[in-house]
Amino acid sequence: MVARLLLTFAICRLIVTVGLNVEPAELLRLGFGGGHVSTERHDLEAASLDFGLMARAEASPLVVFHPSLAEDVARAVRAAYSGGFVVSARGHGHSINGQARAAGGVVVKMTSGGGGGRVAAEEGYVDAWGGELWIDVLRRTLEYGMAPRSWTDYLYLTVGGTLSNAGISGQAFHHGPQISNVHELDVVTGKGEILTCSEGQNPELFHAALGGLGQFGIITRARIALEPAPQRVRWIRVLYSDFSTFTADQEYLISLHDRKFDYVEGFVIVDEGLINNWRSSFFSPRNPVKISSLGTNGGVLYCLEVTKNYGESNADSIDEEVEALMKNLNFIPSSVFSTDLLYVDFLDRVHKAELKLRSKNLWEVPHPWLNLFVPKSRIADFDRGVFKGILGNKNKTSGPILIYPMNKDKWDERTSVVTPDEDIFYLVALLRSALDNGEETQSLEYLTDQNHRILEFCVQEGIDIKQYLPHYTSEAEWAGHFGAKWDKFRRNKMQFDPKHILATGQGIFKPGL
Ligand code: FAD
Repeated sequence: MVARLLLTFAICRLIVTVGLNVEPAELLRLGFGGGHVSTERHDLEAASLDFGLMARAEASPLVVFHPSLAEDVARAVRAAYSGGFVVSARGHGHSINGQARAAGGVVVKMTSGGGGGRVAAEEGYVDAWGGELWIDVLRRTLEYGMAPRSWTDYLYLTVGGTLSNAGISGQAFHHGPQISNVHELDVVTGKGEILTCSEGQNPELFHAALGGLGQFGIITRARIALEPAPQRVRWIRVLYSDFSTFTADQEYLISLHDRKFDYVEGFVIVDEGLINNWRSSFFSPRNPVKISSLGTNGGVLYCLEVTKNYGESNADSIDEEVEALMKNLNFIPSSVFSTDLLYVDFLDRVHKAELKLRSKNLWEVPHPWLNLFVPKSRIADFDRGVFKGILGNKNKTSGPILIYPMNKDKWDERTSVVTPDEDIFYLVALLRSALDNGEETQSLEYLTDQNHRILEFCVQEGIDIKQYLPHYTSEAEWAGHFGAKWDKFRRNKMQFDPKHILATGQGIFKPGL
């Protein structure tokens, strides 16, 4: 062991001093400890693709490293730091634009390692490995009657992957995003040190890593806040034909403090007829909802989606609680769809849709997704120009278009993520799939062009949007995205990843090897 350590050290010194070119795989193999180095073709190919299926294989890594422990991750980063190659953590690879790639370097496949950390039910937290899927975190914590408070709609994403963005769903209006629900992190910095950070310990790194797009370190452990898990969920959808009535109701619901829904989301229906995308299985497939039957003359419809959690203690009053909240809303009276299910089934709802789409070969297709935070003051302009304008009512939409508001005071300004400068902003998520079915309006080119037109429209109209899960290709665009936070972002990069070797797939900083 000591001899190996000395050998690794000597080779690293040699590389640093004379610039000896050693392949990343060799360098990693010289190390000691656990983990597995792969240069298998299928591993390299898989690591160069992602859910977007748009970034192609020219960005293949040379090596995929499967760590077992945080120390393995640190060893890989130290080897990269001294050996002069780039290294990116890959969570579940559910990015859209190649953000988890490491062209010519090492991809650290975080789902390989770790394993369940401690569930401290009484203290109200769980320790999760950075590569753990949220579905596994949920299953582990439910054994103790507990669950995380803030979610994403889909649970087959990793803890480190969503915390590097924000992690949002319909609970964010009162619990904040997932990054507002973390007590502590272990992070392997770009120099290969493992640092524990929190509000009180290494706070700069803690705030930088949350929403930090993987730029400052690889998250190997997160301590996540828990709450007692509800048992069941009442899940309700109602429709609106008038946008301002719809958003007024959404904003009213997220302003409530005590008696409130637990989840508030919504989506836009610009489709020509059936409500038929993967968010809509809830509407009975045997009795599909015809927009025309709701008297909107083929116009755009808006669906509010809310849930109320309950358990044994309030099962008797759930009907009354829901009714009291619904009676203040102004939806189309004939359009109430309600169902009741286990909490875990509600949280895992998108996975069911995934299985259906997979069975029809409609899951592994290109996803030109566009996620935007739109300030409340301009959401009506966005509706006019985009939902009723660019998207119109003649396209078939192969995917949901989500829209829901959040309260900015639930977001910690010290984290790296950027949001619009208003108390309330909306997520607008165009989650469309490109299909090769001969329909021009569903092709990748058409949808990509529409995304560009939407972004251009926002620039022309002065709508100060922020991209969520951002994708830019030049430093000037990134500086514009981060705005007032850009200088700090760059300073943090110099401090925690001075050679710019981490998460180069984001395309923010050029590697300074
Ligand atoms: P990857 O795509 O593997 O990585 C993303 C970035 O994070 C890369 O730059 C990578 O290098 C970096 N990274 C990964 N792991 C770590 C780590 N441990 N430490 C530091 N950096 C790391 N997002 C929401 O907020 N809400 C939703 O409801 C939601 N729903 C989704 C539904 C689907 C079907 C899909 C495909 C995505 C959804 N997303 C949602 C987006 C998702 O949160 C992001 O794409 C996220 O990055 C995916 O996590 P991942 O584990 O696959 O990360």
